[in-house]
Amino acid sequence: MEKLVLILGGNLGDREKLIVEAKKNLQLKLGSIVSESKIYETAAWGGASEGNYLNQVLILETDLEPLYILQVIQSIEQSLGRERIQKWGNRTMDIDILYLGNQIIKEPQLIVPHPYISERKFVLVPLVDVWPDFIHPIHQLSHVQLLQQLNDDLDVLEFIASS
Ligand code: ATP
Ligand code: CA
Ligand code: CA
Repeated sequence: MEKLVLILGGNLGDREKLIVEAKKNLQLKLGSIVSESKIYETAAWGGASEGNYLNQVLILETDLEPLYILQVIQSIEQSLGRERIQKWGNRTMDIDILYLGNQIIKEPQLIVPHPYISERKFVLVPLVDVWPDFIHPIHQLSHVQLLQQLNDDLDVLEFIASS
């Protein structure tokens, strides 16, 4: 089994409920969730979106192939109302593959580790929750170290669930 690390995020609709639905689908189709970060709220990154995002990082265990995993997460995004209108635009659900064990994948449609991990505080903060000492297979630094060296002053605040 490999550890599959995903980040979920969305800034449209009932953001909490969409995260719950995405997790149900992921467990059914990919494997069991063995660890979850807190949910964080962050202002939109990249400038093309309006409302704040909720994000959560999950660790699953799976034996599935990377390109199959990508197909599954894209079908879940679709089923939760994702529309691709604009790069980095508003969305109900975005699911990205951050890591699949220590694998380094460079396919036209799939790059793992996800290329922006070290530049995004909203990714590193929940990664520190679930796996602080994991060593990034390319940067060769832990999540704690990557977060320390990041110059990103966006607020990434713990989100208190409503129920
Ligand atoms: P970003 O990659 O900067 O977070 P995004 O998530 O908004 O941007 P999308 O429009 O959701 O980008 O995805 C564009 C394409 O990225 C997908 O169709 C997919 O083929 C590709 N992709 C490459 N690497 C990954 C990965 N590690 N996880 C998910 N998608 C990936
Ligand atoms: Ca993304
Ligand atoms: Ca994506």
